[in-house]
Amino acid sequence: MRKPVIVTEDICQLTPEWLYSKNLTTVLSDLDNTLAGYGANVPDEAAAAWIGSLKSAGIRLMIISNARRERVAAFCGPLGLPFLARAGKPRARGLLEALETLGASAAEAVMVGDQYFTDIKAGYNAGMRAVLVEPRTQGFFFTVRRWLEIPFIGRKAERL
Ligand SMILES: [Mg+2]
Repeated sequence: MRKPVIVTEDICQLTPEWLYSKNLTTVLSDLDNTLAGYGANVPDEAAAAWIGSLKSAGIRLMIISNARRERVAAFCGPLGLPFLARAGKPRARGLLEALETLGASAAEAVMVGDQYFTDIKAGYNAGMRAVLVEPRTQGFFFTVRRWLEIPFIGRKAERL
């Protein structure tokens, strides 16, 4: 039985209030097209404010990306964000290692990403909840990929 997917337009909608209301204390986030525009080395204003709001609220945030180390470090380093590059999503292993690093359990963590078959699957494989976001960079390729994902996301998707 496939789990219903939670879908939202933007990661910034996962406010500390919403996270706490779902008993979530830990966010594992994809980087490209989820927290950053594709290949962008700095967060936009909204994403930077969101990162700050989590920090103030005591919610842990770690970046889990399949991209290479240099790309992920370029974004996370200046922000002081912990990260895992070459994470091997959709396999659970990287996410489970991240949870151990953070000292968090799967039950209190959510995986957020723009791709169903890597990010969301990885979250479910690790026994976590997962939220699918709209890709931050729009374009033909991303639109087509989302069409292909729709049958798997299903009609039961919960919109935030
Ligand atoms: Mg992505």
